[in-house]
Amino acid sequence: NDDQFKRVVAHAKEYGYIFGSSEIYDGLSAVYDYAQNGVELKNNIRQYWWTSMVKMHQNIVGIDAAILMHPTTWKASGHVDAFNDPLIDNKDSKKRYRADVLIEDYAEKLEQKVQKEIAKAKKRFGESFDETQFVSTHPRVVGYRQKKEEVLARMARSLDNNDLADVKALIEELGIADPETGSKNWTEVRQFNLMFGTKLGASAEHATDLYLRPETAQGIFVNFLNVQKTGRMKVPFGIAQTGKAFRNEIVARQFIFRMREFEQMEMQFFVRPGEEMKWYEYWKETRLKWHLSLGLGADNYRFHDHEKLAHYANAATDIEFKFPFGFKELEGIHSRTDFDLKAHEEYSGKKLQFFDPELNESYVPYVVETSIGLDRMFLAVFSNSLKEETLEDGSTRTVLALPAILAPVKAAVLPLIKRDGLPEIAHQIIDMLKWDYQVQYDEKDAVGRRYRRQDAVGTPFCITVDHQTKDDQTVTLRHRDSMEQERVEISDLPAKMASLLEV
Ligand code: ATP
Repeated sequence: NDDQFKRVVAHAKEYGYIFGSSEIYDGLSAVYDYAQNGVELKNNIRQYWWTSMVKMHQNIVGIDAAILMHPTTWKASGHVDAFNDPLIDNKDSKKRYRADVLIEDYAEKLEQKVQKEIAKAKKRFGESFDETQFVSTHPRVVGYRQKKEEVLARMARSLDNNDLADVKALIEELGIADPETGSKNWTEVRQFNLMFGTKLGASAEHATDLYLRPETAQGIFVNFLNVQKTGRMKVPFGIAQTGKAFRNEIVARQFIFRMREFEQMEMQFFVRPGEEMKWYEYWKETRLKWHLSLGLGADNYRFHDHEKLAHYANAATDIEFKFPFGFKELEGIHSRTDFDLKAHEEYSGKKLQFFDPELNESYVPYVVETSIGLDRMFLAVFSNSLKEETLEDGSTRTVLALPAILAPVKAAVLPLIKRDGLPEIAHQIIDMLKWDYQVQYDEKDAVGRRYRRQDAVGTPFCITVDHQTKDDQTVTLRHRDSMEQERVEISDLPAKMASLLEV
């Protein structure tokens, strides 16, 4: 909900996770900077992904391709001609919208009505009621669903045929109003390319027009043969990459969910033609497992299989996550056929084929890709972890219950007071742990307040040095989530930390 989302944004700023870009100049819309804790969390998510993809798969290797690429890349990939959003303006409010998003929101409202009817019926008929039968026979529900399908199908058809007049006609027929002002006075629909252009070269006449890459995938496709040959890779194999991508998004809202400069984590898996569906299923399952392993709650994920497929795909699904503003795409898994490699063969005049020794033939491999936004993943983890808890004594605490493996700081070391040699012991503990963990020293304020602050930052463990430490070489280890405290010998800390941070 809205309040929860506002809390997320405010918390991200207050605790050094995310700042607006160039804030002292009032910021730049839909561009953000990762702050001292944000960069650690982001690095940890990237690392967690990289480990599972590259380190854990003997047949996946990584690359780090440049953001700037030869401009023909984007002709071949289809981005110059087809990476557009259909735009519509409201003549009264002068606000600009994505026509497809307006229509999808309309369809979503119909679906919400269906869900309401289901909830009502569940109450009336008890848990034993047959939901499948209900949605296929109840007249009102059938009507909503039919209307929804019709609307989405017509939009897909019109967009496929580039029939923008019909997209506008649909908006008018459905009576869709400007969500902010209610006005129904719309302009024509037109296409807007999302790529950022830039120039290479010093003099204006000789400069070459380039684009900032709108996705990282093409850097992998153009290097397919280089990697295959130099890495002596055999199909099936994958190439993984993380890096910045840029899109001139029209409606960039919802914080870091939709940014103009963002980071992707992609893996393109090259397979034998005909085996792509097997691998598509494999990657669907494998990627969902990766998400579930973080423990954010299985109910927060769902697949959304695409009925309408992009021109290059023969199967596609999104892993959707329950963000504070509802279920939205977090990751895409696409079976892209040989579309990209074939297109690059055509435009470059170079063969991009693999000689398969088992089949004794050469072919252009098919591609199954997994593509996830790092920033979106950050938002998923961060928003899901932020909690307001009411404690037994009636007081409340804010806790950022990040998965420990992703937390920016793993442990804070706190001397109970600033004297009697306690800070020195705390520093010795830091020197012992810093080789393996990001640890932090904190001596300011009463220890209770320091605990609360570390809870809000998301630090899973606090290690407190007190007077007893001097006698028996033990410290208090406090757990963020349970707030339980235990006494641990200093020399046992590394082993203890290791076992607690195991996933
Ligand atoms: P959407 O439908 O939300 O615009 P998309 O289908 O265009 O996303 P892809 O091109 O499949 O997205 O990109 C793969 C992933 O990259 C997405 O699942 C998402 O996590 C991330 N992503 C795409 N666009 C953005 C953006 N503007 N800001 C942040 N992350 C993005």
